[in-house]
Amino acid sequence: MKKVLVTGGAGFLGSNLCKNLLQQGNFVYCLDNLYTGKIKNIALLKNSKKFQFINEDIRYFDINSIKIDEIYNAACPASPKAYQKDPIYTIKTNILGIEKMLNLATLNNAKILQFSTSEVYGNPLVYPQKEEYFGNVNSIGIRACYDEGKRIAETLCFDYKRQKGTKIKIVRIFNTYGVNMDKNDGRVISNFIVQSLQGKDITIYGEGNQTRSFCYVDDLINGIVKMMETDDEVTGPFNLGNPQEYTIKELAEIIKKKTYSNSKIICLDLPEDDPIKRRPDITKAKKYLDWNPTITLDEGLDKTIEYFRRILK
Ligand code: UDP
Repeated sequence: MKKVLVTGGAGFLGSNLCKNLLQQGNFVYCLDNLYTGKIKNIALLKNSKKFQFINEDIRYFDINSIKIDEIYNAACPASPKAYQKDPIYTIKTNILGIEKMLNLATLNNAKILQFSTSEVYGNPLVYPQKEEYFGNVNSIGIRACYDEGKRIAETLCFDYKRQKGTKIKIVRIFNTYGVNMDKNDGRVISNFIVQSLQGKDITIYGEGNQTRSFCYVDDLINGIVKMMETDDEVTGPFNLGNPQEYTIKELAEIIKKKTYSNSKIICLDLPEDDPIKRRPDITKAKKYLDWNPTITLDEGLDKTIEYFRRILK
């Protein structure tokens, strides 16, 4: 039985990953300080004897307190609203968090997989985004605490590999949605579904011509677990996401229709540095992981709408 640590394990992606790892028979340590993570996301998992919740801040975690075989490092507020609330905290969590986890991995000769992001490409000038693209990031803007924090984390992973031989793996995660999303974290899919179900105005930022490509969480978690299973020389970074691209205006209309909502679609100001076009090139993930997302936006939205109907009751 493998012992696996998931940092940020009570968050949206972390909790879905913990569930998957438990189903595969692993022992799972879930580290989370509940800054954005929620106990309700792991409530059922806590009944398992193979699950241990550690309520601590990753920055102060004692790396001598556990022995592990694998680490998934997901700890960081991830929605723009959440990571911009306390940007100094966000950048410190990114940088000090990965440093601590790399030390833990090195000490245990364990594999470590870093949750990186499409934000490393910034507002991309290359389309679709391939891993070789170095990005177009504003280092002093309001998204920089997250974007630059995640970029430094990638750098530190590779420096640990080169200097200490640490077994690192990196995935760059594009927009993902599904069960256990936080209804208040300000993301576009959660906002539009909640607004539609509650009959409130559906808030498009800007004119809604910006694009995103949305991956259902189960597909993403499958890709992440496959990445961990690769041989040690496979490091990535690999893009993980669903290449089907939609404008935000299209998304608003799809969600309004699916929820039979009477909500009005309105346009508000576009936030600073909001990327205009985003779509992953997933050739590498297909080749090295034999991975391809299979859940369509239509199916994924049905599951997500059902989830929000349940939690909004
Ligand atoms: N967005 C929007 N209305 C909302 C929330 C978000 O139009 O209520 C837009 C946002 O400006 C961005 C896109 O939807 O262009 C995706 O936003 P999200 O916060 O989900 O993630 P991002 O991809 O920006 O990190």
